Amino acid sequence: MSELMTGATAGVLAEILAERQRQNAKWGQQDHDPSTWLMVLAEEVGEANQAVFETLFPTYDKRAAQRGPRTLAEYRQELIQVAAVAVAAIESLDRQDQSPG
Ligand SMILES: [Mg+2]
Repeated sequence: MSELMTGATAGVLAEILAERQRQNAKWGQQDHDPSTWLMVLAEEVGEANQAVFETLFPTYDKRAAQRGPRTLAEYRQELIQVAAVAVAAIESLDRQDQSPG
């Protein structure tokens, strides 16, 4: 294990793998073009933004306030989803690079 690959890193990567598997079970193999992947990724980044924003400003949005307080744990989970989508986008790109023509 390298200096950069700490137990914490391995734990986070395992969470990302589990999320990647969850997304694959839900959606199957996805082969989008790069712009579509970037929109999917941006949607997940937006959810991370929303989670942390509503944690910091719980009464800013009336509907958000009705849902109850957000937590940084939700922000963390959205970051895991961002990372898993980025992995899926890379896999999709690599498949397209390997296809003939
Ligand atoms: Mg999400």
